[in-house]
Amino acid sequence: MDKLRFLSLGSGSSGNCYYFGNSVQGILIDAGIAARTVRKSLKEIGVDFSQILGVFVSHDHIDHIKAVGALGERFNLPVYATAKTHNGINRCWGAAQKLNGNRRVLEPGEKVQVGDFSISPYSVSHDATESVCFELCYRSHHILIATDLGCTNEEVCSLIRQSDIVVLEANYDERMLKEGKYPYYLKQRITSDTGHLCNTETGRVLAENWHPDLKYIYLCHLSKDNNNPELALQTVETCLNEAGITYGSDVTIEPLNRNLNELVEFDD
Ligand SMILES: [Zn+2]
Ligand SMILES: [Zn+2]
Repeated sequence: MDKLRFLSLGSGSSGNCYYFGNSVQGILIDAGIAARTVRKSLKEIGVDFSQILGVFVSHDHIDHIKAVGALGERFNLPVYATAKTHNGINRCWGAAQKLNGNRRVLEPGEKVQVGDFSISPYSVSHDATESVCFELCYRSHHILIATDLGCTNEEVCSLIRQSDIVVLEANYDERMLKEGKYPYYLKQRITSDTGHLCNTETGRVLAENWHPDLKYIYLCHLSKDNNNPELALQTVETCLNEAGITYGSDVTIEPLNRNLNELVEFDD
């Protein structure tokens, strides 16, 4: 009845938004797609905005905050972000609506309880005003959501070791980016420690922090131009195999689509 459910409404540079919830309440991580699309997609899985306890924002890039103002102001949802990210949101010209009320301030490392969910933000390296990943705990589940990070840190690694569900960036294939059409400065930005994670790095970090309770891995924020789902999955699997990691059919490794994905329900 109160199983954890996960819906990826958007993942990648066109917009990011993830829903985690149970039968009565839930939260959103990031809101980089139109508010009406969020509402429509949630409605299709039987979730109303009145059931959303908060929108948790990882950082102030437009693909993560586009609808934050609308969700906070028009739909009255509390928006949780660090103080610096809140400032960044209100400075952002691309966000459709400013956020005046409904601001909740997160402190990296400090846990917030909303309904049955506890959420802790942790700092990550990425070139926004400030960036965090999230640890989400619900019943027996420990979930890591780490999108947009130029490099991993000890906190991210330790969270992988504690999680049964991991949503982790696999942004680009090194060769596709290198040989692709992006200008030099953009390639430099993406590969830097404050840019994005490549498939190999994602695979390496997963291999190094692998443990038997890790059952669901979702590769997120795949680049449209420098990656594809098959390649991301294949690269991560190769890294795991090369590290001698064996896992059974009870382990799911799945790249997320850029648009709406299918609803997932996790076993307790
Ligand atoms: Zn992003
Ligand atoms: Zn970003």
